[in-house]
Amino acid sequence: MSLRLRLTLLSTAILAALLLAGVGVLYFAMWRMTYAIVEDALIADTRELVSGSWFSPDEVEKPYGRGGHRPAGYSPTLFQTRALDGALLDRSSALGNQALPLSDAGLAALNAGKAWTEPAVLDGGRVLVHSRALVLRGEIVGIIQAARPLGDQERTLTALTGALAAGGALGILVAFGVSWVLVGAALRPIDRVTQAAATIGAERDFTRRVNYSGPRDEVGRLVATLNGMLTELHASYRQVAQALQAQRRFVADASHELRTPLTTVRGNLELLGREPRIAPEDERAVLADTIDEAERMMRLVNDLLTMARSDAGWRPPLAPVPIVPLAEEVRRQALVREPERPIALTSPAGVAVFGNRDMLKQVLIILVDNALTHTPRGTPVEISVALDGGAATIAVRDNGPGIDQAILPQIFERFFRADPARSAGGTGLGLSIARSLIEAQGGSIAATSRPGQGSCFTVRLPLAEPGLSASSAGSSVALSTGG
Ligand code: ADP
Repeated sequence: MSLRLRLTLLSTAILAALLLAGVGVLYFAMWRMTYAIVEDALIADTRELVSGSWFSPDEVEKPYGRGGHRPAGYSPTLFQTRALDGALLDRSSALGNQALPLSDAGLAALNAGKAWTEPAVLDGGRVLVHSRALVLRGEIVGIIQAARPLGDQERTLTALTGALAAGGALGILVAFGVSWVLVGAALRPIDRVTQAAATIGAERDFTRRVNYSGPRDEVGRLVATLNGMLTELHASYRQVAQALQAQRRFVADASHELRTPLTTVRGNLELLGREPRIAPEDERAVLADTIDEAERMMRLVNDLLTMARSDAGWRPPLAPVPIVPLAEEVRRQALVREPERPIALTSPAGVAVFGNRDMLKQVLIILVDNALTHTPRGTPVEISVALDGGAATIAVRDNGPGIDQAILPQIFERFFRADPARSAGGTGLGLSIARSLIEAQGGSIAATSRPGQGSCFTVRLPLAEPGLSASSAGSSVALSTGG
């Protein structure tokens, strides 16, 4: 059953119930009023009879109705007299052989000096019987009863009830029709919202919005919420599309990067398997070349694994990491690779950041390796640590050729290499890995460079003790070698 029909039926049912109650109250009030009017008339009749305007108290045993002593202005009232014990004495001839009843409660009330009125049923229909004590010279001598038929009044009431019922039924029908139209009009905006939402869903066009110019009522709020949800959905949809696009590019780039060394390895193996065999010194050179390429592939696969892990949102455990011993380790490893390179380390003593030691070490290795790879042999490299508010910055600076401003914003992108020919087997993943690792620790990394004057890569991580300042840190550490 539709909401429209349910609401219409509910409102009609409420109206019908109210109407029914109203008719009931009206019927009861009318009935009471009619009853009271007839009772008043009966009281007046009995009083008039007793006061003797057309009935002499001496004729109490022959009241009106017997012997044709009728007053002017005919009254439909039937009279009857009873003795004090309730025994019937006399009655209007119109009563025939029927008697106006008197209940025990009535008799008791009369004996107590009170008047009594009760309905009764005679052959001719329902009547209202009023009984009162007949007092002669201050003494109760009997009971006089007067009755009037209720038929006319009841017929009027029945007619009225019929008219009310017919009017009520018509009213209910009209109310149903009016409710149906009103509820339909109230629900129409919801219909429009449903249609618009269905169209948006079917066309997957999340740029569309539901148009609504009405007031900010329940429907207005529903439309606003739906439109807000569509905005969020659109943003997420775009993000997912971009992520998918990036993923596709990543897979394509990774395959491309792996294909080059694989092609070389395959070519070299074919060369080694050739008959007649190539000269032994050529064989050694080919083997060394193959090992180089295999190592390059290993590096690439390791880099890809690291990227995949950070892409999966893995959050490393964080702890205070003292910087100086870590930077010193990285510096020593670099000196193993290029012993003659002047590599300086300066830092306030005792500085510790809140991060992950292994990750931070890998980042510093990438930065120092880059500095060695992309600068001529012998040019100095400097690792310097400084305090900056609640954070520490670790800068790796070189005096190499620097990076062109035009490509500086791209160097953190995956597989980006400014000059693949000169990047000495680099995968183009180093800096993007460094950025992922630093961001996973809640830090940031940035690069500045001036062509011809060198580059500077700065890592920023929160301090393990945020209150530490340059003045409160220990005396500075300065290490330098090579040259
Ligand atoms: P790669 O494996 O090629 O080093 P990276 O992501 O580490 O990949 O670096 C991206 C590119 O940024 C490098 O190919 C290089 O062109 C440039 N680059 C990185 N570090 C430096 C540096 N210290 N000096 C000059 N160029 C650099």
